[in-house]
Amino acid sequence: MHNSDIIRAGAAIFAGLFIGWILGDAFLGLIVALTLYCAWLHRNLNQLLGWIRNRKETKAPDPRGVFEDLCREIDYLRERHKKRKKKLGTYLKQFQQATRALPDSTVVLDENGGVQWANKAATDMLGIRWPEDSGQRLPNLVRVPALLEFIDQDDSSASVDIPSPIDQTIQLNVRITPSGNHQRLFVARDVTQLHRANQVRSDFVANVSHELRTPITVLRGYLENMSAQREVCPPAWEGAIAQMSDHVNRMQAVVEDLLLLSALEQHDRVENPKPVPVAELIVDIHKRSQQIAAHQDRIFMLELETDVSILGSHKELYSCISNLIYNAVKYTEQRGIIEIRWYRDDDGAHLAIKDNGIGIGPEHIARVTERFYRAEHSRARTRGGTGLGLAIVKHILTRHDASLHIESEIGKGSTFRCDFPPGVLVDEETNDANATIDRSA
Ligand code: ADP
Repeated sequence: MHNSDIIRAGAAIFAGLFIGWILGDAFLGLIVALTLYCAWLHRNLNQLLGWIRNRKETKAPDPRGVFEDLCREIDYLRERHKKRKKKLGTYLKQFQQATRALPDSTVVLDENGGVQWANKAATDMLGIRWPEDSGQRLPNLVRVPALLEFIDQDDSSASVDIPSPIDQTIQLNVRITPSGNHQRLFVARDVTQLHRANQVRSDFVANVSHELRTPITVLRGYLENMSAQREVCPPAWEGAIAQMSDHVNRMQAVVEDLLLLSALEQHDRVENPKPVPVAELIVDIHKRSQQIAAHQDRIFMLELETDVSILGSHKELYSCISNLIYNAVKYTEQRGIIEIRWYRDDDGAHLAIKDNGIGIGPEHIARVTERFYRAEHSRARTRGGTGLGLAIVKHILTRHDASLHIESEIGKGSTFRCDFPPGVLVDEETNDANATIDRSA
């Protein structure tokens, strides 16, 4: 308490007591003095309150004692608050200017997908106007089917490519990430150039492959004729013709695989998917593979659930599974064991192709699905193959919402597992899971 307040309170008490004593009741004098003192304090507090609320129109309380200190303290806090507000205002302005100038569309969404803030790029690319569209749900403003599915998922690492609703020639890559207080940050990046570059690359590969198809077919025809007419072909040429035939066949296989990859790249998803009985498909591929001499000395073990079908493309799944089975044969030695399992569990359906062949080193596993990547260049080449088989497998699986998992150990063998999610399975209310075991040597 301030000294002057103690003196003022003491003086009031003393005066009350003294006047009361003169008038014959000191206690009453004290009560009256204290009441007056409290009334004075109350008046000053009220004035202080009014002054805090509206300092322009209200006078400051008695600028003496504790009220003087209070007024000074309040003034100081007020000044500090003002400076802080100004600083924050500047930061906010700079932040808004920076985000407004961002080339990527940025939209802050509330927990219901309503627009809370959007920058200028969002207006240019998505047609979202801020503040006019404030509170509107994003799916109502940007009506693109792929976005409608994407907006409700929680995977912040996932992204989706959509055409801009303003200009269909612009391709946008969209990501949604959580950002404090149940908000989400919607960011769309213009990837038109990247798309064009990919399109140019893929058209180039498709065109080159197409152009090579005819000359290779002609060469192959002549070489077949030459090797069929041994009597007119000089014996010294036989070896050269056989080698040329091998290379022409390989070139043709590469061209066909490149054309298949280009066709797969045209669309992200299978068009007109139909139920594909995978177990039947595997049995068919196995039967055909048994007609190839190199496959006959491998031991096959098939364990297939016959009532599990996939919604997809028969042709593509045939190509995918035969690539994996033929690889298992290619990369095992004679009398190698190849186990093929097709089964279903709570996570979906799985195709596991296990061999006890040469295996793949851990440094190569993540890369074997790249085009023309070979784990062991020299050995892989001598075993034939185009180097495109697993790239095709990966593409086909992605188009069926499935994924490829590879486990392998050098010298022990490899397991290639294709995981199909429950969403692509077809429920066939026929017989229960049914295992067929087939052993052939
Ligand atoms: P390729 O035509 O060379 O077989 P793929 O794309 O089918 O091309 O396979 C890529 C590479 O992955 C192969 O060159 C080989 O090194 C490795 N690979 C694929 N399958 C197997 C397997 N079952 N066992 C060991 N290595 C394999």
